[in-house]
Amino acid sequence: LADPRPFSRTATTTCGYCGVGCTLRVHVRDSAVAAVTPVHDGPVNRGHACVKGRFAYAYSRSRDRLTRPLIRAGGRSSPLRPASWDEALAFAAAGLTTIRDRHGPDSIGMISSARATNEENYLAQKFARVALGTNNIDNCSRLCHAPSAVGLTAAFGHAGGTNSVDDLDDTDCILIAGANLTEAHPVVGARIKQLVLRGARLVVIDPRRIDLAEMADVHVQVRPGSNVAAFNGIARVLIDEGYADQDFLRTRANGLAELTALLADYPPEHAARLAGVAPETLVAAGRLYGAARRPAIVYGLGVTEHAHGTDGVRTLSNLAILKGAVGTPGCCGVLSMRGQNNVQGASDMGALPDLLPGYQPVTDAGVRARFNRTWQAEVPARPGLRILDMFAAAIAGRVRAMYVIGEDIAQTDPDSGNVRRALAACDFVVNHDLFLSATAEHADVVFPAVSFLEKEGTFVNFDRRVQRVRPALDPPGEARSDFDILHLLSRAMGVDLGCPTPAHAMAECAALTPTFAGISHARLDRDGPLHWPCRDAGDPGEGRLYLNSFATADGRAALAARPYLPPGEQPDGRFPYVLITGRGLAHYNSGSMSRRTPNRQLQPREVLDLHPDDAARLGLADGDLVEVTSRRAAVTYPVHLTDTVPPGQTFTTFSFPDAPTNALTSDAADSTTGCPEYKVTAVSLRPAGVD
Ligand code: SF4
Repeated sequence: LADPRPFSRTATTTCGYCGVGCTLRVHVRDSAVAAVTPVHDGPVNRGHACVKGRFAYAYSRSRDRLTRPLIRAGGRSSPLRPASWDEALAFAAAGLTTIRDRHGPDSIGMISSARATNEENYLAQKFARVALGTNNIDNCSRLCHAPSAVGLTAAFGHAGGTNSVDDLDDTDCILIAGANLTEAHPVVGARIKQLVLRGARLVVIDPRRIDLAEMADVHVQVRPGSNVAAFNGIARVLIDEGYADQDFLRTRANGLAELTALLADYPPEHAARLAGVAPETLVAAGRLYGAARRPAIVYGLGVTEHAHGTDGVRTLSNLAILKGAVGTPGCCGVLSMRGQNNVQGASDMGALPDLLPGYQPVTDAGVRARFNRTWQAEVPARPGLRILDMFAAAIAGRVRAMYVIGEDIAQTDPDSGNVRRALAACDFVVNHDLFLSATAEHADVVFPAVSFLEKEGTFVNFDRRVQRVRPALDPPGEARSDFDILHLLSRAMGVDLGCPTPAHAMAECAALTPTFAGISHARLDRDGPLHWPCRDAGDPGEGRLYLNSFATADGRAALAARPYLPPGEQPDGRFPYVLITGRGLAHYNSGSMSRRTPNRQLQPREVLDLHPDDAARLGLADGDLVEVTSRRAAVTYPVHLTDTVPPGQTFTTFSFPDAPTNALTSDAADSTTGCPEYKVTAVSLRPAGVD
């Protein structure tokens, strides 16, 4: 901003990092981003932005950007070499077509991207179902919020949070579970801080003493993997102490008798013992939430990324139903903090193995018939493979090709050694990305893709808000959008996907998807963001759901009786510590974008948070190297001594490839959705270099 020259271009767009969905102005000078400023009347951010959205844009002109297609034409042992688009497209089309024709459509697995736009995800799932002929399409929501989609749908009817973030303004008590908002969703974290300073009460349920726990009235510092026990204990307090809204339960909910029977086994003393907290802490949390007039629940990946993540979502939703604090004017219901910028939208658009756009089942013949008519195709009736099942199938030889869009699965997916084995086992791998990633190293074709700064479309944020994405920069070199790459590749395979522009893709999606029927680019440009469901051109969209009725089959919310079950891995004599993984403030997920910006100065390398008592026992000082070993691998980190983690637990992120955290993480997964248990890995620690 110190440069006095005018900007050559300014685009108003939506942040491409986290699922908050801040509205930003991207200012361009000399063909590069000169500054990013938050929009004062941005509907979610209201003039704010965090250190990622505001300052982490230099990656867009990094010399590491891929600017030409790369192919590995001489077999797996040959190096990737630059190729023309024509050559790379012909090579990719021949590779995929040969495998499809030889081994069948289900021998190909496709992973779409939560960083890509809705329109790109719509086209990706259409490519899988029409050009390849398979439902083997999934996206990284499988690895984070699949339990939300399934759990919230079962409890309330729609696969998204129940309210708009604006409803937080009226709340008098916020219960935050498994969400480190000030680091992972900083603009919402700051908004909650303001609400607490204005008098809202705060309950934090989290194994770590996160920033917001410092402001909390009650911090329930649960043992990792024990959420269901804690939520059941709080539910018991709500019922036993008269906080349950009996009128609401009688008229608007099912399942009370079954839940009450289950909760006979969860008196606060027992629930607290399972959760590793004091009974009075659990009771205090229940009383604060129960006594509130307009309470809100906000949760994140600390609830979902568990072997029983769907049960976590259901038992947490129970609290809002018992209290009658969902679908009720003035209450903020249950907000699900989506991780990546468009993880909600990637699933909304049907990049899922069992669901077409708008969560319409592929198994429903009537649904398939509508899509078949429009697409002039035959959507397979059998659900496809989920991401982790694709890896298992690749290792078993049933999946022979993978097509991965904009996800560095070899760095970010759990048990990354297994992911690499799966990629190595494939005969053919296609990848799009901004940079040569760990995944691209296994690819036969790498197409150079463009970032959100260089593309057109929409994202859906965590409160189901569909927002416009507009290009500020021209793509570097020959890079193209995922949208264009999918079109070019399908044409090279002899298939025309239609939808020539992102606006056409949204129009086609709207025509086939009742919850998006009223959404179009023209309307978003004219009226601003719209919440789905938005059922026709006159529908203003529903930020606040279920005021009259829940979207379940009988219109009633569904309580769930779910017992506590232990996590997939438990610490033992050999692996006595629990490793929790998550996100930090300066970097985002794999770090491929944020590490190529000045944010690297804020956090130059991965560190492992360790309690000083554990460090003393191990003879480690701050900054010493520690070797972390799980049942799958060993990784070395510098230790960061902090009492934000309790003794026996450690924490790190996965943003640096030279400390491949996901080589350690567990292969346990949610029994309902296959979401991996990133939050509980049993590990041992020892000073590095000591035999
Ligand atoms: Fe971007 Fe999320 Fe930061 Fe907002 S809070 S600026 S959406 S990273």
